[in-house]
Amino acid sequence: MKPEPTSKTHSIYTEAMEVFHRAADLIGLDHRVRLELEEPDYEHIFYVTTQLEDRLVPLADSEAATYSNLAPSSILEKNMIVPLYDGKLILRPGALRGAGVVHIEGGVIRLGPKLFRIEKGTTEQFKAYRVQHNQARGPYKGGVRYHHGVSLDLFKILAAEMTWKTSIANVPFGGGKGGIKIDPRLYSREELEAITLRYMYRLKQLVGPNLDIPAPDVGTNGEVMAWMFRQYSDGERERHALRGVVTGKDVQIGGSEGRVKATGQGLAYCVEDWFAEKGIPLKGARFILQGFGNVGSNAAEILSGMGAKLIAVNDADGTIYDPKGIDVAQLTQWVYNNPENVKKSVGGYPMGQVISKKDFWELEADFAVPAALGNEIDASIAEKMKVKMIAEGANHPTEPAADAVLEARKIEVIPDVIANAGGVTVSYYEWIQNKRMEHWTEAEVNGRLERAIKVNYALIRDIAANRVTRTGDRDSTSFLVGRKISSRQAAMVLALKRIEAHYRLEGFSQ
Ligand code: NAD
Repeated sequence: MKPEPTSKTHSIYTEAMEVFHRAADLIGLDHRVRLELEEPDYEHIFYVTTQLEDRLVPLADSEAATYSNLAPSSILEKNMIVPLYDGKLILRPGALRGAGVVHIEGGVIRLGPKLFRIEKGTTEQFKAYRVQHNQARGPYKGGVRYHHGVSLDLFKILAAEMTWKTSIANVPFGGGKGGIKIDPRLYSREELEAITLRYMYRLKQLVGPNLDIPAPDVGTNGEVMAWMFRQYSDGERERHALRGVVTGKDVQIGGSEGRVKATGQGLAYCVEDWFAEKGIPLKGARFILQGFGNVGSNAAEILSGMGAKLIAVNDADGTIYDPKGIDVAQLTQWVYNNPENVKKSVGGYPMGQVISKKDFWELEADFAVPAALGNEIDASIAEKMKVKMIAEGANHPTEPAADAVLEARKIEVIPDVIANAGGVTVSYYEWIQNKRMEHWTEAEVNGRLERAIKVNYALIRDIAANRVTRTGDRDSTSFLVGRKISSRQAAMVLALKRIEAHYRLEGFSQ
């Protein structure tokens, strides 16, 4: 039985749900449906443990004098030592036994000019989550996030947003989200594999192609999905046919063509239609971008292919600016095909000026694409932004207080639930292909994606403008609320009306 809504006290969750409640009021949402949607169906919280590898930890300057006479060591096999984001190095088993010269004193070793303390691998415990918000329209669907800043409230917000997004994209799924409280940059690939296998070991009874379907999100990718699939199918012969348990897989193991780029691609389709509706050319339009990960880098590549000009990028470790336009292909090389760039950051890119994050948000441009984390645009940033439109690649990048400021300043928003719905839409295509044992071409995937995103975005614009439209592919009549509303409200109205129809027509199980 679903619990009564528990806490009505103020939290990031209750704040994020305000847009839901306002839309529910606006359409007079059935009270029972509102209660069903107000809190998630299930909140799973558990712990995963793993054995870490040995590390070389840079020695503090204060200790270095003690080892001034320590002779340098040389480890010939370079892959036995792996640099991490925090300056530590992974020391593979046997690294010090292989060919090379090794001098160790008091647990300290010198490699090149640097001194390191050898730290034995410890066992570590991580908090893990899976929130299953609602399945009225189909199996729970949503990403897996590996990030140090996650919390139950955050996953509740993101799971609810998946329920709205799957409804807006009109794919037959509900909403879920989960992940692990971990900074994946501080762990080796092998450690992350072990942690992921443990996570899926605990999760495998709770997910499945007809039950709950995880996908990549911040800090995870197709490789993590492959590990999750292996754990799900391990020792279970029939499960090898159930590739649709996770989406966002590599195309060689059942992933869909176009999935890696899908979120950026969907965003670009929305931006293209926003410009078309305004009658302004996208070619030559200037944009700023936050986040150069999966969503940001692909959106940048596609938008620049459409003629838009990227003038600044901010990510977790730096901000670059070039008013003449940044070459996206070159920047991608710098970030992703550059062994020196351990942080995989745009920071240090030699062809751009360094600016502060504050100055980044205040740059004059035609539009902004936040494609990093949530709550990055607060009211004070919204006051100072000099763009005409914001296309939300990230989930929940705009705080509710900032929304009000943007509305007052007439800065339009393409809300996350449609702007980044390309990912879940192509995840749906991947899931269908897995079920049917088919493989579609990228052109087929993108053709379907373009139609799906554009028709649902057009419906949102119809609802926002209180405009009756009846065409071969859409009919806005039953969604209008009798007056103009913001695009974020319009998207929520579309989501709720579609979900409510399920409860209205199917009823409630007792
Ligand atoms: P990613 O891990 O590939 O990239 C995240 C990017 O954000 C990196 O460039 C990182 O440096 C940057 N970043 C992190 N913290 C930052 C900070 N404090 N300030 C500035 N930049 C910061 O993640 P992704 O898959 O590209 O996801 C980005 C956003 O898009 C998330 O909100 C995610 O939920 C959303 N999203 C992703 C998908 C998908 O298919 N991957 C689909 C829908 C929505």
